[in-house]
Amino acid sequence: MTILLMLLTSCVNNPSMPSDSVPIPVERQYVSADITYSESTAQYAFRLNMDSTETSFAKYYFEPGIEDEEREACIETTDDLLSSQSLQDVVPEIYIFSQERYGYKYIDDHKLYSSVQDWRSIEYITDVLLAAYDEGAHYGTAFGYANHLAKINQWDSYDSKFSHPSVGDVFDLNYLCFDEDFVTDNDVVVAKEMSCDFVEWYLKQQGEQAFWQLLSSCSRSVDALAAYYQENGVAYAPSSIQYGAGGRSYDYIVYSDSGTFYIAKDWTDINAEYNPLITDGFLHSNYTDTKAFFEINLKQMKQYQDLFKLDDYNHNLEIVFSKPIAASKTSFYQSLNHRIYLYNVDSLMHEYIHALTMPTASMKRWQVEGFARYFSYYYDHYGMALLNQDYNHTPDTATTKWIHEYLATLDRPIDMAKDYCELENIAIYHFGFTDPNADYVVGSSFVQYLVKQYGEDAVVDHIYGNGTPLPKTYVELVKEWNKYIESEYEGYSKYK
Ligand SMILES: [Zn+2]
Repeated sequence: MTILLMLLTSCVNNPSMPSDSVPIPVERQYVSADITYSESTAQYAFRLNMDSTETSFAKYYFEPGIEDEEREACIETTDDLLSSQSLQDVVPEIYIFSQERYGYKYIDDHKLYSSVQDWRSIEYITDVLLAAYDEGAHYGTAFGYANHLAKINQWDSYDSKFSHPSVGDVFDLNYLCFDEDFVTDNDVVVAKEMSCDFVEWYLKQQGEQAFWQLLSSCSRSVDALAAYYQENGVAYAPSSIQYGAGGRSYDYIVYSDSGTFYIAKDWTDINAEYNPLITDGFLHSNYTDTKAFFEINLKQMKQYQDLFKLDDYNHNLEIVFSKPIAASKTSFYQSLNHRIYLYNVDSLMHEYIHALTMPTASMKRWQVEGFARYFSYYYDHYGMALLNQDYNHTPDTATTKWIHEYLATLDRPIDMAKDYCELENIAIYHFGFTDPNADYVVGSSFVQYLVKQYGEDAVVDHIYGNGTPLPKTYVELVKEWNKYIESEYEGYSKYK
């Protein structure tokens, strides 16, 4: 059945049909297609029977009930656009739903999911270009080019002009710079007009062939944009972080070499009230804060890759910022799907260490949690902010006496980036822990001890690399570490 239908459609739409054959009257042939729609990791999904057809340039799927006239307008515009491009092996798929079912947009793997709209709008043309080239392409570059194509077709278009946004970061011209939740209404207008001007400038200088390369590579777009600013006398290095549309479930998606971030629309940080870096509407508004968050964390992720030097990393990582799902109230790494569920940003680096090292079920707790805890102190801007707030504002009680004893030795507030080793060891001493598997902090203190004896490389290699043994046995090392804690911190009080 399927094969027969495929033959039928390929026959009807065969682009290489000999020129002397009789043209087939425009009577669009549709086949019925069962599709499953889902947004990556989100629970939101539906199945639908759609009407599917194919042209030389794209595959189209329409929700039954969408009028023929509407379908033809969509196909005509989209085919017109795609026919002017040079897209070798790519056949984008365009899925169009009614506004009632799906008033969002989502682009994934050359598939555009959207709804009935003005097919000649710059926004729709931009989405088609992103689906055709790369969903993570630089948004301003695609937008400016969509405007260029609209102009050629004499459709409504924007003026293109260079101007200065009120917030300098808007010069990045990425997807969030076009979103009124993240920048001001006026800055969105600036972003649109400047993107158009940038693309016209580039096309005039380099031509269309060279321009197409920009749509396949965000970093090339960013380099070209930097050159454009230089020519306009603006000293600005645009951010190369790639953002894209998040469909119904996500506010937006961030694409990177180290993983893909999905920011659920209803996500809020569960530690917001304790972490001074979490502002109102964090990661859902304020482009400057959002940009800082991703720039800092993506940099830290690279630092961990360099620190561990493991042979291969699986960068196909999904990091889902979501509300706590039923099973767990704390952020966690799920090895089965190579996915992090993140409820609080202060846990991101801890979970990322799990994702890089991918611990196995046979490992001991200190090797998994002690390791992640210890190394997460190295590069963790948002986690440190939370810990510093916590340690410096803890009331003096029987269980927190050791913190105040340590504070009394300093002439400054606690800074966990400097104090984590001492504080963990003092805690171990105070509570009298001796088993590295007792708790995250205990395991961390033991890992700290090993790193101080043998260096980071040996410890990483021992646990997650080639498994090269350390010079002493585990039992010997634990004994040594117990002794070290007892003698080094004997000035501190003991619990009870
Ligand atoms: Zn963990």
